[in-house]
Amino acid sequence: MIKISITSKLDGIRSWSLQALDTCPGSIASPGELVDACRGCYATTGNYRFANVKAPRAHNKEDWQRLEWSDDMVAALDSDRYFRWFDSGDMYALGLAEKMLDVMTRTPWVKHWLPTRMHKFPKFRRVLEQMAALPNVSVRFSSDSVTGEYTKGLHGSVIIPTPEDVKKGMTLCQAYANEGKCSGCRACYDKKVKTIAYPAHGVTMHKVIRIIKAA
Ligand code: SF4
Repeated sequence: MIKISITSKLDGIRSWSLQALDTCPGSIASPGELVDACRGCYATTGNYRFANVKAPRAHNKEDWQRLEWSDDMVAALDSDRYFRWFDSGDMYALGLAEKMLDVMTRTPWVKHWLPTRMHKFPKFRRVLEQMAALPNVSVRFSSDSVTGEYTKGLHGSVIIPTPEDVKKGMTLCQAYANEGKCSGCRACYDKKVKTIAYPAHGVTMHKVIRIIKAA
């Protein structure tokens, strides 16, 4: 059974998610150490620790391996016009990536947004290129930085400490000015928007930034 999640931030736009960190091989900087952007990850704190939030994510990790999963996902997206992959977690397995590509290809009426760190692993490059070539898919490679460093032409998103830290070439996410909600903005789903800068939010993320800046 397909289990979809809805986050209040995204104007009711639906997501398919997995458990954070467990399914995020791109979050590892070195054994036992997370990349900066994942050290303050919202998906490891708050509501995400509750059993009723964890359960559908654990279910999804098994469920995508069913033969009928792609067909069921295509049917589940029948009425969606926008869809975000991974409110939490990442596309950790090549088999999952191949199935997601199939779903994206068969749902041209949906604008898909896929934020990911899986570009770090060469075996995912081909499938990521195929996804990015689809007119309805915005693949955003996430920078590991929380202080606005990113590589032009590679990264599609980066965290900045405050809105004032936005630089030329970045599109500033305005959710911070709209009570944390997208409020009609759909920049993340728009392939023409090259790099989005997300102002850091949450106590833990700001603590991580303070530690990095002091180092
Ligand atoms: S850039 Fe726009 S669509 Fe993306 S998270 Fe921010 S408000 Fe939402």
